[in-house]
Amino acid sequence: MRFHIITIFPEMFDSYLKESIIGRAIKNKLVDIKFYNPKDFCKLKERVDGRPYGGGPGMVLRPELFLKVFSKIKIKNKNKTKIILFSPSGKKFDTACAKKSAKKYTDIILISGRYEGIDARVQKILKAEEISIGDYVLTGGELPAMVLIDSISRQIPGVLGKYESLEEERVSSSEVYTRPEVLKFKNKNYKVPKVLLSGNHKKIEEWKKGK
Ligand code: SAH
Repeated sequence: MRFHIITIFPEMFDSYLKESIIGRAIKNKLVDIKFYNPKDFCKLKERVDGRPYGGGPGMVLRPELFLKVFSKIKIKNKNKTKIILFSPSGKKFDTACAKKSAKKYTDIILISGRYEGIDARVQKILKAEEISIGDYVLTGGELPAMVLIDSISRQIPGVLGKYESLEEERVSSSEVYTRPEVLKFKNKNYKVPKVLLSGNHKKIEEWKKGK
């Protein structure tokens, strides 16, 4: 899976993509990430943003720079490529989307906005799907891009340590425990639920389902 990220702040991704499971997936070449910065197409002293037509306080990202940088992305198979543009009013992203994307595509292009967003003509010209990661407004589309990369990557076989680690493939619980069996905190004892120590797998599965 190749993720192509269009952003004016590529450094924001550095530490997140280096660590842990996603870092390992990139090292093992299960996932590849490429950055494209519209700022690279700014002439000297030119700005990436402009004042909005119709007025308003925020600035709008200029369309030409995003279209120019987009044209640098090498698309191998159009049918297996998805173009996503982040917007708080887009279609809500969920696990079903992540699963479908991991199966269907080899290339996903993620376009991150900033300020008031990107000139609307970019979405229209590229026929990009507008995606939201939740009902709140962020300052930019970089966190949403990381959220998609993370949730789609963990659906790719081999990315998680064991394929069974995928939540959907087994009974999992939102309540999990490790050592110690009895945790002492401020003169109180907090115990691991007895059923988990019972060795009775049927009962344990039932308990997990109820959580
Ligand atoms: N005034 C704009 C908000 C822009 S927020 C509006 O009402 O639509 C700036 C950028 O952050 C957006 O272009 C988008 O890329 C990103 N963004 C903010 N919140 C988001 C969310 N919940 N989901 C996805 N992207 C979001």
